[in-house]
Amino acid sequence: MNNLIKISGIITESIVDGPGIRYVVFFQGCHHNCPGCQNIHSHNCDGGYFKNIDEIIDEINYNKLITGVTISGGEPFLQPDKLFILLTKIKCIFKFSIIVYTGYIFEDLLKINSYYIKKSLNIIDFIIDGRFEVDKKTFLFPFIGSWNQRIINVKNTFKSGVISLEILNK
Ligand code: SF4
Repeated sequence: MNNLIKISGIITESIVDGPGIRYVVFFQGCHHNCPGCQNIHSHNCDGGYFKNIDEIIDEINYNKLITGVTISGGEPFLQPDKLFILLTKIKCIFKFSIIVYTGYIFEDLLKINSYYIKKSLNIIDFIIDGRFEVDKKTFLFPFIGSWNQRIINVKNTFKSGVISLEILNK
């Protein structure tokens, strides 16, 4: 397996994709087709460009201001093997909190029969789940686009067996 992820872009210092100053990787490719999506350029699986995971790790390491990492898209779980490698390296090297956005409902993610998705879920701290629904658009809560989306504390959820919702402050 090579170390290349298909991405649509990177923001090296974001304050809108989770608490603190976060390095954000936008994966390329999404099949959810949410009306009103602001990342339409990230939908086409043939679009975007390849970036080496080790290059991402080097960039994170170089910037001492970064306090966390967010994976967005696109749909990150469409490249589960690459997602797993990236998450593993981030967690091993930096111990940063990791947020992953997905258009899947968390419960549906659990049903997907994929080794790498299951392994990735064991690394992720918070998942922000669900498609963007334009009629539920909200600016009231930080880090979500529409009020159907949930911020899920993944570790607490696995520990308790029930969905553990989280409010993340800026
Ligand atoms: S899941 Fe995200 S990237 Fe995909 S269409 Fe919906 S809002 Fe856009």
